[in-house]
Amino acid sequence: MKTQGGLPVRRRWLWLLLVGLVLALLAMLVWLAARFEASQLQDKLERDVQAAVADIRTGLTRTVQNLQALQFNDPTPASWQADANKLLRDSRVLIRLEWRDAKLQPQGIKAQAESPFSAPVFARLGRAQSQGEIEQVCANARNQNAPTYSNSYFVSMIEGIGMEVMEACLPLVVGGQLTGYLVATYSLGEILAEFLERQLVAGQEISFTEGDGTRLASRSRGPRGSRVFTAQHLLDLPGNTLVLRMSRSGGAPALFPNVLTALVAVMSMALLAVLALLGKDTRRRLTAERDLADALAFRKAMEDSLVTGLRARDLSGRTTYVNPAFCEMVGFSAQELEQVEPAPYWPKSLVDEYTKRKAIRLAGNVPPREGFESIFMRKDGSLFPVLIIEAPLINAQGVQSGWMSAFLDISEQRRVQELSRASHERLQATARLAMVGEMASLLSHELNQPLAAISSYATGSVNLLDGMKSVPMHTEGACEAGQAGAMGQVVTLTPAQSADLEAVLNRIAQQAERAGKVIKSVHDFVRRRDQAREAVAPLALVEAVLPLVSLQARKLFVQVNVEVAEDLPLVLCDRTMIEQVLLNLARNGMQAMDSPEIEDRQLLIRVRRSEPTEHDIASIAPDPPKAWLAFSVTDMGPGLTDEVKQQLFTPFFTTKAEGMGLGLSMCRTVVEQHGGALTFEPNTPQGTVFSFALPGQA
Ligand code: ADP
Repeated sequence: MKTQGGLPVRRRWLWLLLVGLVLALLAMLVWLAARFEASQLQDKLERDVQAAVADIRTGLTRTVQNLQALQFNDPTPASWQADANKLLRDSRVLIRLEWRDAKLQPQGIKAQAESPFSAPVFARLGRAQSQGEIEQVCANARNQNAPTYSNSYFVSMIEGIGMEVMEACLPLVVGGQLTGYLVATYSLGEILAEFLERQLVAGQEISFTEGDGTRLASRSRGPRGSRVFTAQHLLDLPGNTLVLRMSRSGGAPALFPNVLTALVAVMSMALLAVLALLGKDTRRRLTAERDLADALAFRKAMEDSLVTGLRARDLSGRTTYVNPAFCEMVGFSAQELEQVEPAPYWPKSLVDEYTKRKAIRLAGNVPPREGFESIFMRKDGSLFPVLIIEAPLINAQGVQSGWMSAFLDISEQRRVQELSRASHERLQATARLAMVGEMASLLSHELNQPLAAISSYATGSVNLLDGMKSVPMHTEGACEAGQAGAMGQVVTLTPAQSADLEAVLNRIAQQAERAGKVIKSVHDFVRRRDQAREAVAPLALVEAVLPLVSLQARKLFVQVNVEVAEDLPLVLCDRTMIEQVLLNLARNGMQAMDSPEIEDRQLLIRVRRSEPTEHDIASIAPDPPKAWLAFSVTDMGPGLTDEVKQQLFTPFFTTKAEGMGLGLSMCRTVVEQHGGALTFEPNTPQGTVFSFALPGQA
């Protein structure tokens, strides 16, 4: 979707539409309210104009009654005039009264009176002008025998000024005979002024108009604004029909004509404000959403680029997430990996063991921080080693929601380790052979003695046998020598000779055994065996190397002492390796003492119980053994110089002419492989103590 200024275009349009609709609603509301107000004003005006018409009608009726009263009691023209004058003073609507005879001619006016409030209306034009109107209206009155009104007409008084008047004619009947007429002239303007006094309020105009709208007479108060309402109503009089028209200024239109409109307007504004706030909030949320999407994309890119396999499990053990690296590692798709148990990458033969392990883990047992190794199976069935590091998965509320595991395919690492182990073993074998070469001369010297002894004992035996050839053999205590037997001669021995011969032969056997032991010890040592841990008695380890140690000790005039504490636990080790370590240390010690200055040449090989060092514990965690055994080899040599100390364990470092410099570095590796550490310290009064600890079987 296209975006503009941060908001998607479509959403922006929706917002504009919403605001537009709310504004239109507001405008319509105000317009409707104004219209309502106008219609109310108009209605009121209509009612007012009707009331005005009723007022005029009432006023006219009362006036007619007053006019009729003039004729009571058979008045004389003089008394009539007096009454007429009084009536004219009381009612301003009448401007002239005439008592005419039945012929109606101006000459036949019995009496007449003019309003005292205005100048004589007909003074200028004369009464004759109105004769036509009067005759017509009186004819109507006579016909209907009731007061009748004429059409209105304009009477000009001075140039341009005059008034609209209307005649009313009352037929005078005495004893069923028409005796004359009472003609009354009304001023339309005064009708408005007098009868509608109450109605004439500020900002209002009341007028009589003709049917076509021509204004006949009007009364007005105050200025007229631009907003004018008009209403008209017919004033239907006998003989004449007038239109009463009322115009009223509506005043300024009220913006909020009533509380309801104001309330709705306020609510609409509140709605607009809420909309604005909502818009702001939406904008903020959009920004947050975008940031979140960025963060997610970054996380995904990061996870996708990882070579470490990741897997998340919920507390029930169901796999909830795997990253692409993990899928690639095991060759299964993420969907296939959702299977609960057994996981498809578990080797078939190990499913039981892994199920148990998983149950232990899900029971809340925290795995070791440094991880543990396991074997997984690829989709193609091939097995490979992995390093698994597991950690509890803590959610945003700080509650554990499952387990997160990281997997490292360590097949390559294993291959390299295997290679290095193989070369290391070859190196060890080489070192052993080198040592054997060194021993060969000792061996020949050592074997010389028993062999020479055997040879001389054998010669002695032959001589003994030669001297006894003629002696007959006794049955008891006699023996048949093989050599004599072979020659076909029978040798008879005396008991004393027999005892001698037995002793000699025993010596021969002893010497031969001794020579055999020497050769066997060398053979045992050289023979390369598979690395295997076995539980061995510490004394057995020492005794195994003792013949070889003694071999050299005799040559170098060293006294070898062995101190092995009693009741020691068995030591769990690779026997050949530890023997080689002991032999190496003993040999180094003896060689160190091979100097003319050193007279007291003593070598002490000691084994006892010991407390493990911190290093020992750390190296064999998380399951440290209960017992430890300390092996030490102490010599009385010149000790180690600082320079030698620094390079002691460096391969190929040696101070000896024929040395290889591999012994100590090999010893250290072997001891460390067993979970211990090889240390050295000066011996008192002189010499060096090399020691190491091995875990024992409690
Ligand atoms: P090599 O015995 O072949 O020289 P090692 O690694 O066993 O190789 O010994 C290295 C060096 O350490 C020896 O050459 C020697 O100088 C010194 N060294 C070893 N053990 C002792 C000891 N007990 N006393 C004095 N020096 C020793």
